[in-house]
Amino acid sequence: MSKYEVVIGLEVHAQLKTKSKIFCSCSTEFGAGPNENTCPVCTGMPGMLPVLNARAVEYAVKMAMAVDCQVNRRSIFARKNYFYPDLPMGYQISQYELPVAEHGHILIHSSQGEKRIGITRIHMENDAGKNIHSSAENASYVDLNRAGVPLIEIVSEPDMRSAEEAVAYLKSLRAILVYLGICDGNLEEGSFRCDANVSIRPWGQKEFGTRTELKNMNSFRNIQRAIDYEVQRQIDAIEDGEAIVQETRLFDAAKGVTRSMRGKEEAHDYRYFPDPDLLPLVIEESWMQAWRAELPELPAARCARFQEALGLPAYDAEVLTAEKDVADYFEAALEAYNEPKKVSNWVMGEVMRELNDRGVALTACKVQPHELAKLVKLVDEGLISGNIAKAVFKDLFETGGDPEVRVRAKGLVQISDTSAIESLVDEVIAENPAEVARFKGGDKKLTGFFVGQVMKKSKGKANPAMVNQLLAARLG
Ligand code: ADP
Ligand code: ZN
Ligand code: MG
Repeated sequence: MSKYEVVIGLEVHAQLKTKSKIFCSCSTEFGAGPNENTCPVCTGMPGMLPVLNARAVEYAVKMAMAVDCQVNRRSIFARKNYFYPDLPMGYQISQYELPVAEHGHILIHSSQGEKRIGITRIHMENDAGKNIHSSAENASYVDLNRAGVPLIEIVSEPDMRSAEEAVAYLKSLRAILVYLGICDGNLEEGSFRCDANVSIRPWGQKEFGTRTELKNMNSFRNIQRAIDYEVQRQIDAIEDGEAIVQETRLFDAAKGVTRSMRGKEEAHDYRYFPDPDLLPLVIEESWMQAWRAELPELPAARCARFQEALGLPAYDAEVLTAEKDVADYFEAALEAYNEPKKVSNWVMGEVMRELNDRGVALTACKVQPHELAKLVKLVDEGLISGNIAKAVFKDLFETGGDPEVRVRAKGLVQISDTSAIESLVDEVIAENPAEVARFKGGDKKLTGFFVGQVMKKSKGKANPAMVNQLLAARLG
């Protein structure tokens, strides 16, 4: 074990899925032409007046409730001043001293078991625009379509002790946002972004070490890589007698390293002050009650229900509920065939394997939940074997369709006719006298060989249980 303990705190920016921006009525739709979704407010024209989007408040408060934060009934918007071409106002409207919510937590599961991670605060703010640098044209462009899109920033306590825990925390947080329907949680497209603060300290030391802040990771894997690299870099530096400098570092995914972007000397002094254009945000008790009543079943509750009501093992319940669309798919399949463990095996096995192999999301799977359910049922009823069912699933993956129709059209119906299987068994015995002699001499491992030969002759269609039974009878 290393001499050092790792300490990690995470800042997550989640883009809220509102129709309009946080302080104006421009659309948040992705993919419009450059600067099409802009107005005097989100382009920071002089004299513009921001008006707060009520839906953004609703979403921020729902997230706060979902992670057991205390909601501040009165919070303040503040100006965070800095200059950058993608920020035409010259300041970001954020919340500073009085954020909308504080003091929450979530439970995470890692190889170390269950652990509580504190959430320091959640605040609301607007996103900046995008600078686009074209080296071909030797020009830079500014697109302000994203400027003013609502964000919540979720700041954690420095409670994580490994990259694995950091990723577990992020996955839980992302799942909650997606279950709430308030964020699409897409790391690659930047609707879920994470900055990782990382430090190390000798085991037993109370004070935290100096931290660096890592940016520019757009996948869970890269977050893990960036943290692992940074921890080792800090250990090497300290072992060499160097001090860690508090700085922001960018992760370079191609090289797998972090590089200094700006040090403390260049750190911003944002000169925060309350935005005089916006009244304090006062949240009424009646809104709170309505929003609480609208909270959907969240991942932890769904996971518990899958174990208690459906009798699934904890592992299955966790895997199935980690992504909302997978849990929805599973439950829809159950409606068609109420065999939780069997359907779970199929979703966790064949469905997920196929998604991984193809590198696609569940939406790419055209086998509808009721069609998957039917496939599982066909196996149970003995119409096809498990292996044939797997092949049929692969076959239908891109098109969907009734599995029974496909099975019959392709002549894949299982052979459960005793005399038909018996004649295959007899053929195999006749064709393999040497193996039969060895088997009778005591080499019982050859059973597998004989079963395999019979299955092959039947093109995978013989009922495996009957094959085993009839072989045993014939071979004695
Ligand atoms: P800033 O706004 O400058 O980034 P914050 O005080 O808001 O600073 O802290 C940001 C994040 O850094 C929080 O998630 C916090 O838990 C984490 N953090 C603070 N100190 C440390 C440390 N020594 N090691 C690791 N993480 C830390
Ligand atoms: Zn606008
Ligand atoms: Mg920070």
